[in-house]
Amino acid sequence: GLTAPMLAEWLREFARLVSEHEDQLNSLDAAIGDADHGTNLTRGFRAVAADLRPGMSPAALLTAAGHTIINKTGGAAGPLFGTFFLYFADAVGNDPLTPATFTTGLQAGLAGVVTRGRPDPGDKTMYDALAPAVTAFTKAIHPTGPPARSSSASYALQAAQRAAESGRDATIPMLARKGRASYLGERTIGHQDPGATSAALLFTAAATALP
Ligand code: ADP
Ligand code: MG
Ligand code: MG
Repeated sequence: GLTAPMLAEWLREFARLVSEHEDQLNSLDAAIGDADHGTNLTRGFRAVAADLRPGMSPAALLTAAGHTIINKTGGAAGPLFGTFFLYFADAVGNDPLTPATFTTGLQAGLAGVVTRGRPDPGDKTMYDALAPAVTAFTKAIHPTGPPARSSSASYALQAAQRAAESGRDATIPMLARKGRASYLGERTIGHQDPGATSAALLFTAAATALP
């Protein structure tokens, strides 16, 4: 199963990826927002990475990360990413982290984002990358039809990453209906959503860092 050190690696890899993509995320946000999405996430997840301590339980680690993200990231995305991890932590508690409990955590995290931001599908937000990723992960772990080629967690994480990237790309033609970008209305059409872009990186980080 997944251990706290593996979850810490996921958070560290995401912190590294957002900082590597800081300028890209700021540019995407400059087109339809206030150009701070990369700066916000880099600040927040650097603080998360700096706070990681060995010996924490998975739930304690994810809860601490959630609070740090909410306190340090700012913007609309900070509370949403933070809530994702707080709900994830509450749902898994200190159950052993298996593919099944990781599914539960992802679904709860997504529900947290929905509770906090009230995004609807197609509103051009991080939800449009997160939701397909969570669905793809769930389907890969709990296949309904013929047996999946492989039901391993790493196969499921790769499926989730691909779904997140398709969801991210699908935000380009959408008209923003939530957050700052919604003030620009039709002018948002043709631009990739910054939050969907960073949400896809969360699954790139998972596919890279988790076994
Ligand atoms: P701010 O808009 O406050 O500057 P950021 O730039 O950090 O915050 O984050 C913007 C991103 O947050 C958007 O690209 C979008 O994906 C996401 N977002 C904004 N509002 C919502 C919402 N209500 N629900 C879900 N996601 C949202
Ligand atoms: Mg912004
Ligand atoms: Mg801002």
